[in-house]
Amino acid sequence: MNSDPRNPSTPALPHEGGGGRSIRVVSLYDDVMNVYADRGNLIALRARAAEYGIEVEVTSVSVGDPLPAEADLVLIGGGQDREQRRIAQELAGRGPVLRAWAEDDVAMLAICGGFQLFGRFYRDSSGEELPGAGVFDVTTVAPGPGWPRCIGDVLAASLVPGAGELVGFENHAGRTYLGAGAQPFAIVEHGFGNNGEDGTEGARYREAIGTYLHGSLLPKNPALLDHLIGAALRHREGDDSAPLVPLPAVFAERAHAAAVQVARRRSRRVQAAPGSAYATP
Ligand code: GLN
Repeated sequence: MNSDPRNPSTPALPHEGGGGRSIRVVSLYDDVMNVYADRGNLIALRARAAEYGIEVEVTSVSVGDPLPAEADLVLIGGGQDREQRRIAQELAGRGPVLRAWAEDDVAMLAICGGFQLFGRFYRDSSGEELPGAGVFDVTTVAPGPGWPRCIGDVLAASLVPGAGELVGFENHAGRTYLGAGAQPFAIVEHGFGNNGEDGTEGARYREAIGTYLHGSLLPKNPALLDHLIGAALRHREGDDSAPLVPLPAVFAERAHAAAVQVARRRSRRVQAAPGSAYATP
């Protein structure tokens, strides 16, 4: 029997018979939704997976393309209102499949405009309401013209076990509010997060994550990147999936540390509203 090259004392698992592990990634509308280089998340994912010897099969799905039958990880980036208008109806129509995948613990990462459209709806500053796919129980409303956007570097404490402190950059008009069925992805320490009021950042449902953090996010947050790869592997391999043994991420950790300093220096420190369920202790 072959042994696991990362841990010679571990016998090979049945899925490792050919020596390879693989994950199936669906990249949604990455030709339309790609502000602040959110496509970098896919590049980082491929590079990190290669370090682990994991093959990444990517299906790019844009306007008019069918969804593949299965996925282990779904990615969607951010976009301005104009781009969101191009995809909203079709994405909402894919809601039943995406929600079934989320229930089945498919890993997901939806950024900013993509996060808003993975919620129930996004009402833009002109009052037009775009339907969402409903993966997250969140709603987003952009205040009327003249209101400031939420812009700047963000530092937030992730509520995903092991993902640690997150850094990223936000720029959004929409204010997102969590419904009873949504958990925050993180608690904001510096920056605005979902709405600049309640201290929450993003949303989380099972293995699906929605967030306002661009960066790109994954190159700067190696622990989150490893978490997503691990979740995708668990979906692909089932209960006998061997846990990912983290490899060092020396340069990414350096980039992370530098970005933490920048966010601390440049962005406002958040105090969640007193009595808020998400107030920092
Ligand atoms: N159009 C959305 C907003 O401004 C999302 C922006 C983005 O994805 N950067 O709220």
